[in-house]
Amino acid sequence: MRPGPVLVIQTAFLGDVVLTTPLLSRLAARFGPVDVVTTPAAAELLETHPAVRRVIRYDKRGADRGIGGFRRLAERLADTRYAGVYLPHRSWRSAALAFSAHIPDRIGFADSPAALLYTERVARPRGGHESARLLALAGAGPSPEVTLALTEADRAAAAAWLKARGIATPFVAVAPGSIWGTKRWPGYAELVARLDRPVVVLGSAADGELAATVAAAAPGRAHSAAGALSLRESAAIIERAALLVTNDSAPLHFATGVGTPVVAVFGPTTPSQGFGPIGRAGSVVQHTGLWCRPCSPHGPASCPLGHHACMQGIGVERVLAAVTATPTTAPAH
Ligand code: SF4
Repeated sequence: MRPGPVLVIQTAFLGDVVLTTPLLSRLAARFGPVDVVTTPAAAELLETHPAVRRVIRYDKRGADRGIGGFRRLAERLADTRYAGVYLPHRSWRSAALAFSAHIPDRIGFADSPAALLYTERVARPRGGHESARLLALAGAGPSPEVTLALTEADRAAAAAWLKARGIATPFVAVAPGSIWGTKRWPGYAELVARLDRPVVVLGSAADGELAATVAAAAPGRAHSAAGALSLRESAAIIERAALLVTNDSAPLHFATGVGTPVVAVFGPTTPSQGFGPIGRAGSVVQHTGLWCRPCSPHGPASCPLGHHACMQGIGVERVLAAVTATPTTAPAH
C-alpha cells in the first residue's frame, strides 16, 4: 500500500464494531492509528481507542440517509486522500462508499457480494471467532485482543452511579435485552430473584421496560441502569462487575473487551457461528441437541416454529449453576 492514511469502514451492529478492535489494533501497529467510519451509536466505542485517529459518523438511517448523505460522505472521504480502506462489513454500501471516495486500495472479503469493487480480496476463514475472522483481513501478524478503551470519566460515572444506589462489589451485571426477540432468554427475573448478590440490570433505553421488570424481581438489591448510562459507562459497570450474565448480544462483547467473566445464554444462535465468549473466563448455557438450532445468523424476531424451545427450554437452575461455576475477578478499578 502507498503511504498515506488508512480507513476502516465498519457500520455493522455494536457487537461487530467491538469485535473489529483487534483488526484496528493490528492496522494501527502497521500504519499508525486509523480513521473509522461507523454508526453514530457505535462511535463512542471507538473514539477513545488508541488504534483510532478519528471516528467519522455515518448516520445511514438518519441524517445521512439516501443518495445525498452517501455523496456527501464520499466527497469528505475523497478529500482525505486515503491510501487504502479495509472493509470488514460485507455490504454493498460500504464497498460503494470506498469506491466512490476514490480510495485506491480497497481490501475486503472474497465472499462479499460487493467483492468486485475491491482491489484485494481476502479469503474469509470459515470457522473460528468472528474477531479472528475479521483480523484475517489484515493478513498474517500478531493477534491483538478485543479491547474497549474506557476513560477515567467513564469509570467515575459508573462508580458514582453505583455509589448513589449503595451497590457494593461484588455485584452481578445482567443484560436481558437483544434487538432480536428470540435471543432474549426469558428467565432473567427469576435468576435475579435467586442470586444472593447485588445486581445491575443493563440495557439501552429501548430495554427500559424489560430491565425494570427484571430489577423488580429483587427490590432494593437489583437496580436498572437501562438508558441511564452511555455505552462506555455501561461497559465500565461491566468492568467492575464480578461477572456478566447476558444473551448473545453486544454486552457479551463488551465483557470480552474489559476482561470480565461472562455467562452467555445462547438460543437461536450457537457459539460455533463465531460470536461466543473468548477465553477461560466465559461459559455458555444452551439447549444442545435441538435440531432447529441455529435457525438464522442473528436470531429471528419470533420463533418460526412457534415454541421458542431454544430459550424456553433453558431453566434458571442451569444458569445459576453456570454463575456459581464461573470464576470471578476482583475489579481492577
Ligand atoms: S426455530 Fe428453533 S432455534 Fe429458531 S427460535 Fe425457534 S426454537 Fe429457537
